[in-house]
Amino acid sequence: MAGKPPAIQPPRIGVLALQGAFREHRRLLESLGSTVQEVRLPADLAGLDGLILPGGESTTMAHLLTEYGLWEPIRGFSAGGGAIWGTCAGAILLAREVRGAPPQFGGRQDSLYLLDATVQRNAFGRQINSFAAPLPVQGLDTPFPAVFIRAPAFSEVGAAAAVLAHWEGQAVMLRQGNILATAFHPELTNDSRLHEFFLKMAVKSPESVQI
Ligand code: GLN
Repeated sequence: MAGKPPAIQPPRIGVLALQGAFREHRRLLESLGSTVQEVRLPADLAGLDGLILPGGESTTMAHLLTEYGLWEPIRGFSAGGGAIWGTCAGAILLAREVRGAPPQFGGRQDSLYLLDATVQRNAFGRQINSFAAPLPVQGLDTPFPAVFIRAPAFSEVGAAAAVLAHWEGQAVMLRQGNILATAFHPELTNDSRLHEFFLKMAVKSPESVQI
């Protein structure tokens, strides 16, 4: 008698849930069948295949990452092969350099230094300049409905990172091995293509996955 085929484990994805749009990521991931763990403490990273850093307010998130002792555990998660996707404020947290931090913090802001890029906060203007646009993304057949809310842009991109999308001449989506960064908010749309892509990154060896 033929044995049962091996059960396919749905990927386990963590969503950093200190502040910001984590519930929206959770909703989309669950609609795709993945198991979601809200991450607030280092122990929450155990057993995850991928981690999403959501949009929100990056200065606040940076303070909370210090408060909860999460900087090193997240770097360790990445070094151990875990996939990480930062959206908007989350993308700011990934960069090796952050420009445009508030002057009351001396214009400086801590980050994870995982992404070979400099990020410019609020690169498209203030809240009132937020917008949605059909964004051509490398590897997608049709444009992605991108929502930019006080969005950053990657003002300098190092050799290790590949640009997957530009808007108005600015780099707004990067991929570097097991790291993905979008300046916009795919979790605020009903288009799940980028979440599906991230799930593939999280369960396979990153180099083998093309968008
Ligand atoms: N401008 C915000 C910041 O710098 C990011 C905005 C967002 O995540 N929608 O943290």
